[in-house]
Amino acid sequence: MAFPSIQIICEKCGGRINRIINVKSVKDILRPFNGRCNSCGVSLNPSDFDLHMEKA
Ligand SMILES: [Zn+2]
Repeated sequence: MAFPSIQIICEKCGGRINRIINVKSVKDILRPFNGRCNSCGVSLNPSDFDLHMEKA
């Protein structure tokens, strides 16, 4: 059984943050990046984007 993965896509630059999750919230996922896109540095509001759940 695969862990679910989550893909956060920055609407500004299209940069992607992929994380394997278990019980993480988007806020927890973004915490290592200080809530910013790791490509362009724009602040990402967890409520601003949809979660794309994919089975790995
Ligand atoms: Zn970005």
